[in-house]
Amino acid sequence: MNSLCTLIFIDMKITIPENAAKIIKVLEDAGHEAYVVGGCVRDSLLGRVPNDWDITTSAEPMKVKALFKRTFDTGIAHGTVSVLMGKEIYEVTTYRIDGEYEDSRHPKEVSFTGSLTEDLKRRDFTINAMAYNPEKGLVDEFGGIDDLENKVIRCVGNATERFSEDALRILRALRFSAQLDYTIEKETKEAIKDLAPTLKNISAERIREELEKLLISNNPDRLRDAYELGVTSVILPEFDRAMEAAQNNINHAYSVGEHTLRVIDGVSKNKVLRLAALFHDIEKPGTKTTDEEGVDHFKGHALLGAQTARNVLRRLKYDRDTEKLVVKLVEHHDWEIKAHSKDIRKWVHDIGEECFPAMFELNNADILAQSEYRRNEKLAHLARLEAAYHKMIEDGDCISLKQLKVTGNDLMNAGIPAGPRIGEILNGLLAEVLEDPAKNDRDYLLSRINIEEKE
Ligand code: ATP
Ligand code: MG
Repeated sequence: MNSLCTLIFIDMKITIPENAAKIIKVLEDAGHEAYVVGGCVRDSLLGRVPNDWDITTSAEPMKVKALFKRTFDTGIAHGTVSVLMGKEIYEVTTYRIDGEYEDSRHPKEVSFTGSLTEDLKRRDFTINAMAYNPEKGLVDEFGGIDDLENKVIRCVGNATERFSEDALRILRALRFSAQLDYTIEKETKEAIKDLAPTLKNISAERIREELEKLLISNNPDRLRDAYELGVTSVILPEFDRAMEAAQNNINHAYSVGEHTLRVIDGVSKNKVLRLAALFHDIEKPGTKTTDEEGVDHFKGHALLGAQTARNVLRRLKYDRDTEKLVVKLVEHHDWEIKAHSKDIRKWVHDIGEECFPAMFELNNADILAQSEYRRNEKLAHLARLEAAYHKMIEDGDCISLKQLKVTGNDLMNAGIPAGPRIGEILNGLLAEVLEDPAKNDRDYLLSRINIEEKE
């Protein structure tokens, strides 16, 4: 390999999975080079558990396939063969050079190379462009170790060129900075700002994946950087409106966007909760009115926000289960109810049990991200609601049709014909039981059926 002399070998040991080591050995015994590469090297050096172990090799795909019993073609045109080892799958990719890019995302063609350096050069960031071989050690040709030490995200080569080739890298830079708590190096940052508009060429699925990784990271407030660099204006313009909406109201200390960032940070690193936090006040800008005293109000923002959340989640091609939960949480986040057990039962029935205890967590973070005005009162009320909710669960109170002591069959046995009337009656009975759980008694409910029918 002609670039050998430029490689920097550093005496750093990484423990790699037995099967990855086996694959490397088989490739080497057949006269090829092979390394683990990219994210797994970065994560190992950081003491993090890698998501997956990718292998890069000088062997061409057909040669890789010939050397292993169980393989399948993952992206053979791009040089990737998956090798099955027991229950594990490893992606083995031939050293490659990406040809010219089109549409800010896809190389027109790739060509294979015998040079590891060339393969590392096509990778996005210095910290992702290191390779490791158990015998030869670490290969770090672009200052990846320095950037890990200095906590910096920096493109390999010219940042403008790298983002022009593939705009997805813009989002990857932001999400790695959020996951690792790294700063984005100056030139890389400037190139992001210049090329943010090209994100319009990136598919909704890829945007969703990166945005979600950023949101569920330790530093979701890096969404602020995405705003400042002009990235959210392309992928999430709704958030820009929030960043630009002041809240002149005694309950608040921040703009809608700054408040939102604090709520996101205040809830657990869970997809549904972080998305609900992102969207909970998303329609405050759209519902804002200012009274004669100059105080801002946001009537109806939760309901309208739920619609906007649904639209954005669909635009990002989120699955319906996630959509349903997030939309419910947004719609109901601003509910003001008393901590009476009957109000709680109706509330849980209306919102759906699956939204709890996320609802309490969202409300708690929401309060903590507001001004200190009446904060203790707000938190005490929330604690009362939560206690009443837990008591309701412990008592086994009926809050849904499936817990009701009579069923549709009972109604039909009592002579009510199948049809919508059955549902109406059951819901009527449930409404009574929500008022008073003692009424969830079969005899009582059956007697009510007869009365209902006479009415
Ligand atoms: P994760 O922890 O999310 O898996 P990763 O760095 O491993 O992070 P992958 O998407 O699994 O990311 O990609 C593996 C490696 O492939 C990266 O480390 C990087 O070297 C390279 N890579 C991935 N996507 C790109 C891209 N869009 N442009 C250039 N190189 C990329
Ligand atoms: Mg990976």
